[in-house]
Amino acid sequence: MKRFNYYKPRSLDEAWELKEKIPDALFIAGGTDILVGIKNGELYPPALISLRSIPELNSIKINGGAHIGALTTISDLIHHPALYNIYPVLVEAAKRLGSVQIRNVATIGGNLCNCSPCADMALPLLVLDAKVRLQTAKKNREIPIDEFFKGPGETNLTPNEILTGIVLESPRKSAKAIFLKKGRVRMDLAIASLAALMEMEGEKCQKARLAAGSVAPVPLRLFKVEAQLEGTTITDKLVAEAQQLAAESVAPITDIRATKEYRRQIVSVLVKRALKNILGWSQA
Ligand SMILES: Cc1cc2nc3c(=O)[nH]c(=O)nc-3n(C[C@H](O)[C@H](O)[C@H](O)COP(=O)(O)OP(=O)(O)OC[C@H]3O[C@@H](n4cnc5c(N)ncnc54)[C@H](O)[C@@H]3O)c2cc1C
Repeated sequence: MKRFNYYKPRSLDEAWELKEKIPDALFIAGGTDILVGIKNGELYPPALISLRSIPELNSIKINGGAHIGALTTISDLIHHPALYNIYPVLVEAAKRLGSVQIRNVATIGGNLCNCSPCADMALPLLVLDAKVRLQTAKKNREIPIDEFFKGPGETNLTPNEILTGIVLESPRKSAKAIFLKKGRVRMDLAIASLAALMEMEGEKCQKARLAAGSVAPVPLRLFKVEAQLEGTTITDKLVAEAQQLAAESVAPITDIRATKEYRRQIVSVLVKRALKNILGWSQA
């Protein structure tokens, strides 16, 4: 492992100043992805700039909607006193990420910035229509999260930009959502995963959001399936069509965890389970 300097700024301004001075330095949050990359010789930055001691990145604010600081750990999401009541799907996904040890240091921001197709926190945030707040010393912007992911390991972040937080609206009372993950064993990266959210008015689906993990270069919104479901009365036939469309919408690869054919099949099964669970037709 190559030697590198480690900086621990106490403010965003200090972090940006360091990044200006050492352009090849990388930001580090919990380090659960980046340190693996360094140890494996895939990354060799001259310096790491830790974001962990910057107070404004470390808070969860609930005010109608929510603002979740990017440095919030996965464990903090799980143990927050109010978050589960408003966004149960987010907390359910958090509980399925890695082990207790990983969850205690891994951050929600790091999970998004690493931009892995299997990032567990991406899916609930996609179906909740979250926005991400991206900041440099000179510019602030907020973009929908589905515009944040560009490719495996590649985000919309510009070199000096820091993901400072995640902005969520309050979901409607009629909204129900679910997160499902299939791994080889319980504590594993997903072979395929799915989050779904539906707002129903009587028998009719007013709003549908579906996002799938580990089945495309990025965590993927299933826009075509959503369009097919919205404005319709959900029937068994429609669920079967949604399964088919979901399987056609993804572009999985074969790797050590599963074949692409198996992943496609799992997505189809997860769509059926998610929809039936949300509609109260069966348990997932
Ligand atoms: C044993 C093990 C099991 C795991 N299991 C899972 C799992 O089940 N599901 C899953 O989704 N992931 C899993 N992971 C991956 C990992 O834990 C998560 O992706 C984690 O959330 C990354 O967050 P972090 O704070 O550790 O990021 P870091 O490693 O610190 O950073 C990751 C990347 O994001 C950048 N970055 C971090 N924060 C910011 C920011 N605020 N602004 C700009 N750039 C930033 C860094 O420069 C780096 O490129 C696992 C990892 C390990 C080692």
